[in-house]
Amino acid sequence: MALTGLDQFLKDDQILTGDADIKNYGRDWTKFFTPNAQAIVFPKSTEEVLELVKWARTTKTALVPSGGRTGLSGGAVAIQREVVVSFEKMNKILSYSDEDRIARVQAGVVTEDLQNFAFEKGQYFPVDFAAKGSSHIGGNIATNAGGVKVIRYGLMRDWVSSMTVVTGRGEVMELNNDLIKNASGYDLRHLMIGSEGTLGLVTEASIKFTRKPNDPLLFLVALNHLDNTMDVFKAFRDQTNLLAFEIYDELALQYVLKAQSNLSRPLETVAPFYLLIEVESEGDNSEEKVLSVFESCLEKEWLTDGILSQSDQQSKDLWAIRENITEACAHRTPYKNDVSVKISQVTPFLKDLDIVLKKEYPSSEVVWFGHVGDGNLHISILRPETMTPEEFYKSSQSIDDVVFSKVKEYGGSVSAEHGVGIIKKKHLNYTRSEAEISAMKAIKAFFDPDQILNPGKIFD
Ligand SMILES: Cc1cc2nc3c(=O)[nH]c(=O)nc-3n(C[C@H](O)[C@H](O)[C@H](O)COP(=O)(O)OP(=O)(O)OC[C@H]3O[C@@H](n4cnc5c(N)ncnc54)[C@H](O)[C@@H]3O)c2cc1C
Repeated sequence: MALTGLDQFLKDDQILTGDADIKNYGRDWTKFFTPNAQAIVFPKSTEEVLELVKWARTTKTALVPSGGRTGLSGGAVAIQREVVVSFEKMNKILSYSDEDRIARVQAGVVTEDLQNFAFEKGQYFPVDFAAKGSSHIGGNIATNAGGVKVIRYGLMRDWVSSMTVVTGRGEVMELNNDLIKNASGYDLRHLMIGSEGTLGLVTEASIKFTRKPNDPLLFLVALNHLDNTMDVFKAFRDQTNLLAFEIYDELALQYVLKAQSNLSRPLETVAPFYLLIEVESEGDNSEEKVLSVFESCLEKEWLTDGILSQSDQQSKDLWAIRENITEACAHRTPYKNDVSVKISQVTPFLKDLDIVLKKEYPSSEVVWFGHVGDGNLHISILRPETMTPEEFYKSSQSIDDVVFSKVKEYGGSVSAEHGVGIIKKKHLNYTRSEAEISAMKAIKAFFDPDQILNPGKIFD
């Protein structure tokens, strides 16, 4: 039997093969693929992961690393009789050094648990997004996760001080040893970050914390026109200490309000687009200063309405609208684009994209939202209720070339933060040159000579 030998280093309760488990662990948030793993295994230590990789090399078995399975690119999907390696049982925070301001964690620690741990220590872990209650630190590293605070704090990459990785060669590598300065050759830590489980299995990591920001001031504003987005952005960026700058459209708001009866329409004005703007307060007249920026945007008619949150509950509700968009549309199995361009290109890109989408999808519902302050937009085309997810996935691919040609024209990326996985691999060449892809394949061949680590992800 194909799984022979696993019992040499894993106990019975660390191996699952039931249909329900295959279905559950063989997929992520992309619902277009039918899971077809042969088993799910639950290692508890780096040593067990090492044994697993050695076993996979010997038996030529493909392994699919699996975190919280909140991925949106099919990176953790197992559809070709792979063995899924779940990090669920490696969920311990191992140590904390206040002097270094670094926590050592196992890969399966849930993102929000680490955020809460940082708070308990009087510190802050700023990688933050709607899936934080389920996603794992290992998954965040493997996807170089972004989220709603990138504008101020950067990506997951900026918070990984060191990590332990088991490569596809069957070697354990300790990368960086928590050094702030380390100019001794290539930094393989950064090569592993964002590699989507194709080069190594992250088993542990040291995560940096930072000072908790002062109380935030949160605005929700109604945009007069999409073209004014970056005018408002520049006004706030240049005159305040921005923590977040998010966009969503009226359709997104309608879906969230339909799904969440506890939330209500936040502004009387109905606008095509809304911006959620969070700013760190600084000193006594902070609110006055920030309000004057908002008022100047109103005077210039970039905005038609807006509110400054007056309580923690109101802030929670305003954030809940933004954070629930993906979930509120999930039943319509959206075809998602997660694209980015540099800040100076956002306005012309948005205009062009709007034209393209209206032409290609005249009768479809298209939900716009995203981290526009980072030049990152999520465009979700909703599945018509008459189509199955599989039919819709096939039919939607025809639009990719059109949208991604625009992305390429503006020097952008076909995957801003969700990763390439299965879904974007055909379009990697819209963002990466032939030379880059060929270097990536050579790196993959070095770290994974038997092609056992997440084969078929990022590229074939
Ligand atoms: C509602 C919602 C909102 C989201 N918002 C954002 C957002 O704002 N920003 C953002 O960046 N993403 C966002 N995502 C996408 C997703 O949450 C992130 O990509 C997250 O980092 C994935 O973590 P995970 O543990 O769920 O990984 P999984 O989905 O389990 O896996 C993702 C990839 O990492 C690999 N992997 C997992 N664990 C390991 C490991 N230990 N070692 C090696 N490889 C591993 C998998 O094989 C796969 O390729 C969102 C998702 C949802 C559902």
